[in-house]
Amino acid sequence: MTRITGDQALVKKINTSIILDTIRRHAPISRAKVSELTGLNKATVSNLVQELSAHHLLQEIGPGKSSGGRKPQMLLFNGQAGYAIGVELSVNQMTAILTDLEGNIVAEAEDTLIDHDVETVTKHMITLVNRLVKQAPPSPYGMIGIGVGVPGMVDGDGTILFAPNLGWDMVPMRRMLEEELGLPVTIDNEANAGAQGELRFGAGQDARHLLYISAGSGIGSGIIINGELYKGARGYAGESGHMSIEADGKACSCGNRGCWELYASEKSYADKRGLLPSNRTSELVSHAEAGHAETIRHFQEIGRYLGIGITNLVNGFNPQSVIIGGPLSDAKAWIEDSLQQVVAERTLPYHRELMEIRFAELGSRSTMIGAAYSAISQFLGPVRVSVPAT
Ligand SMILES: [Zn+2]
Repeated sequence: MTRITGDQALVKKINTSIILDTIRRHAPISRAKVSELTGLNKATVSNLVQELSAHHLLQEIGPGKSSGGRKPQMLLFNGQAGYAIGVELSVNQMTAILTDLEGNIVAEAEDTLIDHDVETVTKHMITLVNRLVKQAPPSPYGMIGIGVGVPGMVDGDGTILFAPNLGWDMVPMRRMLEEELGLPVTIDNEANAGAQGELRFGAGQDARHLLYISAGSGIGSGIIINGELYKGARGYAGESGHMSIEADGKACSCGNRGCWELYASEKSYADKRGLLPSNRTSELVSHAEAGHAETIRHFQEIGRYLGIGITNLVNGFNPQSVIIGGPLSDAKAWIEDSLQQVVAERTLPYHRELMEIRFAELGSRSTMIGAAYSAISQFLGPVRVSVPAT
């Protein structure tokens, strides 16, 4: 993007994108209401709506209620104009969904990961994606893109800089996948993707200021400020798993001591070897369901430590909502009470007021849906909106 000032084509793209976004959020909606909500004049709205309809992105569903005079035609976003794929790459597995442009899941697929060398993982991912591509219903745009959530730090070019749990550094994943798949690819950190998933389609839809905490093999967080993902100066914000919660605590592989994720993620299982019947959350959840006392106690302790870290973040960010996602959210039944109790006892009173702690509404799918959203927003986004400027 170079010139903005005076570039009519760009202004039109931006207006088109604003109109489309308004219709997506408020559908069914009349042209007059779109004009009122966006501040764009009625003629502009009518012209651009006509163009969006011609490009299959909108549909009319007949007359709505009249406020006197002729009944207005109501507009809907055509979510089936194309399809996207969202992938979550974890340490032990890879999961993927096929969604329409509104985040509705059409099909799912998964694969187990044993080897972590880049080439094997990429090969598996391409096979998984192609399986879903074949299942996409016919549509005007077909497959519009692939979004991938990864457990690591990602730069603006889709290169995975560092993924300690996979043993990766400097992997140009976006370029590798785009070359193989011939489709646009976006790569995001898994917690950032999860935050987007919950913000757009899950428990965070009514929030502007939100923290998404992904607790699994480590802890990452996605920070939403004023409705937008905050990535920091170079894209690495949200590594909250490495904030110290015990000044002289256990040594962490990052070089720090007493890191949050050593106490409040799956990493904490290592200290309980012999007491816990497994080191996988899904298995521990079944043991807790069967009443295994030590497992239940351990989940309660994780809840307490999660609460301590969340208290620090809440005091610093003053969010409306904190959403707990990732594999440990499946242990909600045993984690929630101790977590809520710690936050209630320790958070500053004004920060606590009207602040909610929730568990991910999309469950284990937050990251995949958020990754798919990333691909969709590239397709529909403000400057790269696909409607050709005339
Ligand atoms: Zn650390």
